[in-house]
Amino acid sequence: MVDILIVGGGPAGLTAAIYARRAGRSVLLLEKEGFGGQMAFAPRVENYPGVESAAGAALAERMTDQALALDTETDIGTVCALRREGDVWFTQTEEGETWESRCVILACGARPRRLGLPGEDELLGQGVSYCAVCDGSFYRDGVAAVVGGGDSALQEALLLSDLCREVFLIHRRETFRGDAEKQRLLRARDNVRFLTPMTVSALRARDGALAGLQLRNALTGETSELSVDALFVSIGHVPELGAFADVLPLTAKGYARTGEDGVTPAPGLFVAGDCREKAVRQIATAVADGANAAMSACRWLDGE
Ligand code: NAP
Repeated sequence: MVDILIVGGGPAGLTAAIYARRAGRSVLLLEKEGFGGQMAFAPRVENYPGVESAAGAALAERMTDQALALDTETDIGTVCALRREGDVWFTQTEEGETWESRCVILACGARPRRLGLPGEDELLGQGVSYCAVCDGSFYRDGVAAVVGGGDSALQEALLLSDLCREVFLIHRRETFRGDAEKQRLLRARDNVRFLTPMTVSALRARDGALAGLQLRNALTGETSELSVDALFVSIGHVPELGAFADVLPLTAKGYARTGEDGVTPAPGLFVAGDCREKAVRQIATAVADGANAAMSACRWLDGE
């Protein structure tokens, strides 16, 4: 049995592991895919103090190496259930493993939000994508659209404009919540067109692949057609806490309701990172959450 089991190997989970190991606690870090979380898919990170500019994957590798150098135990597994019996937390994975720990820190992050349009799931990998870093190069010299108005959408559009012949940025409002500098860079690019205030109202497919979009003007309701080779959906994320609703109070949007110390009403259960209810979701805030949750867990183990 380990002292602290951490679910999720993004910046919050990795930081929690680093702090807990440095405090002398035994730690098992479970990750379902690859370490680094969403950070690993960021083309450039330029707002993390001390790192002027780095590929997200490179920063993820450095954080992972730091956690591993402290002898953090790791395993791959998708956690599907959590229960407490006596003083022990039992963490169960879809792969059939059950792990025992004295504390659990949930740092499971969030998954990309879907548009919810008919055909979206079937066209995944056939023109519909949620990650330009992963799939952008499949559409080199093609026509791509990005939907969304946050920093992720702006970042994806910038990356795609280096690869694609033409990029359409579709957003439901005239103003963007993403940062002004990215907007300025995009507006200066010859191959980027802003389509606002527009929503994607239907996906058009040909021979099993995306061929175009139906767009709807959010003010007039007027519809139009746009031929594209790819659509990158970048409309935010939804937390991955559904499996833990029985042990954790969640907000209406599914985020964990905790303070920045990560403490939950369940004894020995803590939450950190993007799955926590908070105003700003950045690598810097995820890292802060990881440190806070680890220190809360250590205090709890000390019986405070
Ligand atoms: P976000 O900031 O929540 O933005 C989501 C965008 O999608 C919003 O513009 C929203 O429109 C739009 N949207 C939501 N649901 C939609 C729907 N059903 N149909 C159409 N549009 C929809 O999400 P994010 O861009 O993924 O960023 C998440 C966090 O990471 C943010 O805090 C962001 O600042 C941070 N981040 C930072 C960087 C960086 O370089 N600093 C890079 C990436 C992400 P409305 O604006 O109309 O609500």
